[in-house]
Amino acid sequence: MENILLIVAILVIPLIAEIKVKSAYSKYMKTKNTSGLSGTEVARRILDNHNLNSVYVVETPGVLSDHYDPRRKTVRLSYPIFEDTTIASVAVAAHECGHAIQDKIGYVPMRIRSAIVPVVNFGSKIAWIVILIGLFTQYFKIFILGVALISLGLIFQLITLPVEFDASRRAKIELKKLGLVSTEEGSGVAKMLFAAAMTYVAGVLTSILEIVRILLMFNDRRK
Ligand SMILES: [Zn+2]
Repeated sequence: MENILLIVAILVIPLIAEIKVKSAYSKYMKTKNTSGLSGTEVARRILDNHNLNSVYVVETPGVLSDHYDPRRKTVRLSYPIFEDTTIASVAVAAHECGHAIQDKIGYVPMRIRSAIVPVVNFGSKIAWIVILIGLFTQYFKIFILGVALISLGLIFQLITLPVEFDASRRAKIELKKLGLVSTEEGSGVAKMLFAAAMTYVAGVLTSILEIVRILLMFNDRRK
């Protein structure tokens, strides 16, 4: 019974977060901003204000694919964000610039996150194999090693939380400081960024439940 409930929660939590973020996006993608600035223009202003003139702002394919690339020092914005003059454009562009500012100042959680990427990738690649070996041989130490490897993903997600919340915090400060949004628009920006951040929180919750499920699997097989 616990297993079924867990599986349902693991499937439903990310779905709810996705629906929430998509509905926030579609609402604010239709709402024009009063400054008449596109995502590119907003990004340029924030970056230049931080002497980040060398950071590029380019268009990238895909939906909700916006991100900052620390290796290439590039803010990549998806088509509607890049071009449109909406609240969503302002919010997302400013958020990605928040990551560029983090990169410039050497924001510690971001540095830790980048540093652990190779370990996390390796761990998640072999975790399931180790877990299955542990399960079938009923060798607890191997099983726990597998769980530890899969937990690396959770650690990565946990470090992502301050990085994301801080980027949104910086975004709101920058927009206010440069006078790019009205008070009312500012609350729209905040709502949108909050919805986006919740997908990361949902990711953490789902990973915790996934680990609990794996632990229960070992218990069930032992019975
Ligand atoms: Zn982000």
